[in-house]
Amino acid sequence: MEPLLQVRGLKQHFPIHSGAFRKVVGHVRAVDGIDLTVYPGETVGIVGESGCGKSTTGRTILRLVEPTAGEVLFNGKDLAKLKKEEMRQMRKDIQMVFQDPYASLNPRKTIKQILLESLEVHGIGTSKERLKTIEEIIEVVGLQKEHLDRHPHDFSGGQRQRIGIARALVLKPKLIIADEPVSALDVSIQSQILNLLKDLKKEFDLTLLFISHDLSVVKHLCDRVAVMYLGRIVEIADKRKLFENPSHPYTQALLSAVPKANPKAKRERIILTGDLPSPANPPSGCTFHPRCRYATEACKTTAPQLQEVGEGHMVSCHHYKEVLSTV
Ligand code: SF4
Repeated sequence: MEPLLQVRGLKQHFPIHSGAFRKVVGHVRAVDGIDLTVYPGETVGIVGESGCGKSTTGRTILRLVEPTAGEVLFNGKDLAKLKKEEMRQMRKDIQMVFQDPYASLNPRKTIKQILLESLEVHGIGTSKERLKTIEEIIEVVGLQKEHLDRHPHDFSGGQRQRIGIARALVLKPKLIIADEPVSALDVSIQSQILNLLKDLKKEFDLTLLFISHDLSVVKHLCDRVAVMYLGRIVEIADKRKLFENPSHPYTQALLSAVPKANPKAKRERIILTGDLPSPANPPSGCTFHPRCRYATEACKTTAPQLQEVGEGHMVSCHHYKEVLSTV
């Protein structure tokens, strides 16, 4: 099967300016060389702590910010080389759902205006057809036609996220990048939104790139999971392999914080010491070494490469065998 999305060597380095002449004195390496392939119909999760670069990865894929380096291929086409009209089409095919639906919905517009906007920008259908489309979509996401005449502030957080999802769906995209879509919601509402995304994925034949700091949320929804640390993917595998055989110490630590289905099952909680280092000044060698309980002298000087340790299971750690033996 041909991939829907291929990301190769993607980098997003933001310059740091200083002084009266705003001289560039360094770079924040928010995304530092990511390779990722997503196949049609898959849900791929990107997880990591806040500040690891996962949201910037999503935005850079969509070219909301221009990448510093690397390629993003969608349906085999390099997005950087698309002509204006092709780029417009691509924007229709890749939609984003944001973390804070309230901030991303114009408070002065009605839901009808918000949903019609994308269809109008892309010149899709007659005004009658557009109205029919948004009336259908609003019901698909669990709201009613009557809600179309209200404003964003008339809705709860969960309802606003349903509107955010409706806005993404209205153009019938192929890929949705969902950036922490449930992290601002109450736990009870989170599962409703996750179940909605699961149902819509089937109904609309969607591919999802799901960005989250929460592995238990990712477990609920994703087929494959990429774990990010300081701008890089440190482990990627299908969900079952990742949860059963975490082979990177960082993945192990994240997993140890996920509540188990059986509360009597024992699992050592691994507390990560220290904060996430600054991406403006990443540690030498393996960037995880200051926080890693398996770190050796070699880890401080030599950066590990992402290597295949099983079918579709890639890990970037010098000592992954030792790490795996402790699972
Ligand atoms: Fe830890 Fe070394 Fe593996 Fe990095 S390479 S994760 S420091 S054991």
